[in-house]
Amino acid sequence: MPKLSFAGPTTGNVFLDAMPSAAFAALRPSLERVHLERGHQVYAAGAIIDTVFFPIDSIISVVADMSDGKTAEIGLVGREGMSGYAIVLDQARSVHRCTVQVPDSAESIPIDNFRSALESVPELAAYCLRYTQATIVTIAQSAGCNSLHTIDQRCARWLLMAHDRVAEDLVLLTQDLLSQMLGVRRAGVTLAASALQESGFISYTRGQIVVLDRKGLESASCECYEAAERAWKTIMGYSISKTK
Ligand SMILES: [Zn+2]
Repeated sequence: MPKLSFAGPTTGNVFLDAMPSAAFAALRPSLERVHLERGHQVYAAGAIIDTVFFPIDSIISVVADMSDGKTAEIGLVGREGMSGYAIVLDQARSVHRCTVQVPDSAESIPIDNFRSALESVPELAAYCLRYTQATIVTIAQSAGCNSLHTIDQRCARWLLMAHDRVAEDLVLLTQDLLSQMLGVRRAGVTLAASALQESGFISYTRGQIVVLDRKGLESASCECYEAAERAWKTIMGYSISKTK
């Protein structure tokens, strides 16, 4: 479990809860709890970032859309992080589409409030830059993973990452969505999910994946899950991994 340095009331978003108290104090008055619906487009590709979201048990996918209609997920944002990190790098727009994949609650803040806190509280700016570095490292790991590891391994890794970000062992996800997320044909995902189910690691019924054997799922994943988690702990000082 993550060790939280912030001693005040917790929001449930670990990125907020672990940030320096001066940084959280600057954001807190403007935070508003919202519910994110499945499929809600948080940002279109190229759109102005008008709100920053800090998911609680929801998951936002950062997706690259190709000109032929194919898609690939390039990042996940859950209770470890925030949406719209481009703003930390002084960019007003989201290059990629961001969509809610797993519905649940999130804290939110209007972009003007976030930006003024970023400009006036050095601890917040430094913390957000570390988050940006952790995100870049994770994306780089995924790039290597996508070119070197099998669909089965990537499927297991993705499920571990999703499992870390939801409250229960249930991940609400269709195979269509999973295939879009992994950027592979649905048939490949069906085979991978079937293999994981036959091993007793997950159960899968229409749109619902239940993680039954976390250790088994970890054994089916490549090294990339653990490598990204290690980097995250080093850079941010916390981890949301459910690995014991
Ligand atoms: Zn991998």
